[in-house]
Amino acid sequence: AKKRGRNHAAFFTQDMQVEVELRLALENELACAIANQEMTIYVQTQVDCEGQPAGAEFLLRWRHPVRGQISPAQFIPVAEESGLILGLGAWVLGQACMALSTLSKVGHRLPVSVNVSPRQFHQPGFVAQVKEILATTGAPAGQLILEVTESLLIDDLDEAIGRMNELAALGIRFSIDDFGTGYSSLAYLKRLPLHELKIDKSFVQDTPHNGNDTAIVNSILSMARHLNLKVVAEGVETRAQAEFLIANHCHVLQGYFYSRPEDIEQWLSRLLA
Ligand code: C2E
Ligand code: CA
Ligand code: CA
Ligand code: CA
Repeated sequence: AKKRGRNHAAFFTQDMQVEVELRLALENELACAIANQEMTIYVQTQVDCEGQPAGAEFLLRWRHPVRGQISPAQFIPVAEESGLILGLGAWVLGQACMALSTLSKVGHRLPVSVNVSPRQFHQPGFVAQVKEILATTGAPAGQLILEVTESLLIDDLDEAIGRMNELAALGIRFSIDDFGTGYSSLAYLKRLPLHELKIDKSFVQDTPHNGNDTAIVNSILSMARHLNLKVVAEGVETRAQAEFLIANHCHVLQGYFYSRPEDIEQWLSRLLA
């Protein structure tokens, strides 16, 4: 038994070692990724209950020259911890505002959603940075939606509210991403300048056959109605899910059933054609 325990321990440390090394390597490579043009953006179209385009979410993609596509689920946490998210986040915001500006010149009024990480949102000068990006790109602020998570609100709610109000005053709208997975309380939802809630795909996945999940989705929808908030359901993969959501008056649907994330160039040229 003792021998086995030791082997286990050795295996564990080796595993951890590999993980630490991979993380460090990722961090180093991530630092050069924008400059090396390895970062790209994929855009996923959202639709209304009639299937018409209602918006688009910008999603980061890392095309690593050796490792291939690396999922944001893997590198965003590294970026967040190392602070590299600040540069990455500013870059995505810039890309989104450039796209909005290009689209508005040809009369398109599609809202664009961008994910903002807690560290990015809380950095000193974030509001000024957003203002500058809007000014230099000439993007219509009213078409920009910032997706934030509930975790962003925990640390300092008053500070978060202050920042959100400053940005909302510019016309920017806010969405709570992954809604239902964090510690949301109705008390603070009421205090935020919110435009919409995004129901996390983990709740959408097992609708309509799972009774608990249908109940959760329905209570989010009815709560949002009372708070006058729009609702986006994410991760809609099947017709049955879509029909259930539409029947229960979900405003906007996002998922593979309607549209896969596509390369930003492809998305833009389709809209401009
Ligand atoms: P998220 O914000 O919840 O984004 C939705 C994720 O669900 C995306 O994964 C999207 O590709 C995926 N998805 C869309 N439709 C479906 C569907 O029908 N079924 C399933 N199973 N998945 C679907 P992705 O692109 O891998 O991004 C993962 C997460 O990484 C995002 O989750 C977001 O939290 C983060 N992320 C992505 N881009 C950025 C960014 O620019 N900044 C920050 N801070 N985070 C980002
Ligand atoms: Ca999101
Ligand atoms: Ca989400
Ligand atoms: Ca999610």
